[in-house]
Amino acid sequence: MAAAHAGLPVVAREARVVGDGSRTRFVMDLSGPAALSVFMLDEPYRVVVDLPETHFELPVDTGKSGKGLVSAFRYGLISAGKSRIVLDATGPVAIDKAFVLPAEKDQPARVVVDLVKSTRTAFLETLRVSRDRDRQNAAHKPDVAPGPAPNDGKLRIVLDPGHGGIDSGAIGKSGALEKHVVLAFAQTLKEKLEANDRYEIIMTRNNDTFLPLRGRVQFARQKHADLFVSIHADSFSGADVRGATVYTLSERASDRMAASIAESENKSDILAGVDVPEDTNEVSDILIDLARRETKNFAVVFARNVIKELKPDVRLFKRAHQQAGFMVLRAPDVPSALVELGYLSNADDEKLLTSPEWRDKTAVAVTRAIDEFFRTRVANMAASAPVTTGVGEP
Ligand SMILES: [Zn+2]
Repeated sequence: MAAAHAGLPVVAREARVVGDGSRTRFVMDLSGPAALSVFMLDEPYRVVVDLPETHFELPVDTGKSGKGLVSAFRYGLISAGKSRIVLDATGPVAIDKAFVLPAEKDQPARVVVDLVKSTRTAFLETLRVSRDRDRQNAAHKPDVAPGPAPNDGKLRIVLDPGHGGIDSGAIGKSGALEKHVVLAFAQTLKEKLEANDRYEIIMTRNNDTFLPLRGRVQFARQKHADLFVSIHADSFSGADVRGATVYTLSERASDRMAASIAESENKSDILAGVDVPEDTNEVSDILIDLARRETKNFAVVFARNVIKELKPDVRLFKRAHQQAGFMVLRAPDVPSALVELGYLSNADDEKLLTSPEWRDKTAVAVTRAIDEFFRTRVANMAASAPVTTGVGEP
């Protein structure tokens, strides 16, 4: 894929869907030409359009609803230098044409995707051919085993602001986007933690980029993280649902709400048009077995620390420690927890979550919880010497 042209990045300012249930055209206006690649995904039916990095400056509600064969669409950064548009299809479709039309006279350059109604059999055949081609191009990289841990005595903390890029996460009543709220919080937390020079703080993302769930887990393992903290501010129906909640991994969700939050979180890759390998498509028992008991115990200790430290200063959800099958918490060798800062579906929480003062005091409390976690962990390790530095070592 060609990199964005030197100079100004391409800007998208408008998008529209026209047509009906047999033939539908998607159009997005661009400030300049761009190379485009298109593919399809199923479960659910989607058409994915990849472009070089594009700045999307479209009205907020763009893509919430569609027309004809397209029920809705999303767009955003998918990785460094690469942007993506995901069209949700109402059923099996075929791509009749997909191209970028150069600007002419008073018309801007345009992405044009023409879809026609198809059958499931034809759709699956197209999918099979493109997946075979991908496989030949070795697009499916196997997970790389982590190398040896650096022996510098540092405690590595991976902060994982949820969502990003094409996946906005929850949207508050006043329009706050989860992906921005959690990135701002993670950046504040990083600053607080960096006051301790025993810590090395690594962020899964520093900007508005999308990362697949699997990639976040892999990242933590590759970095030999001693702790992985995923940060979210989700949405849940019921206006009284508010307050911080800490989630850890479990085969069985602690209740319906935890199950539902995990289920919607685990859909992130689908929203972003990522082809999820079948073996990771669902949260299986095997996944839970993989997570070592010790790692899970550490995660629970950490969750309790967070709740204890938040309690005096920060409003907590009534059941502040919850468990469910979150994909992002499945690293078998890295204690992992998901901190739900609050719920953007609650107007009062949204106000707090977007306030710098709240962010600051909450980051201070989480820092205390992390300090406490490592204090007890190091003490336990010293008591059960010899010390091992990494679970993956022979
Ligand atoms: Zn989230």
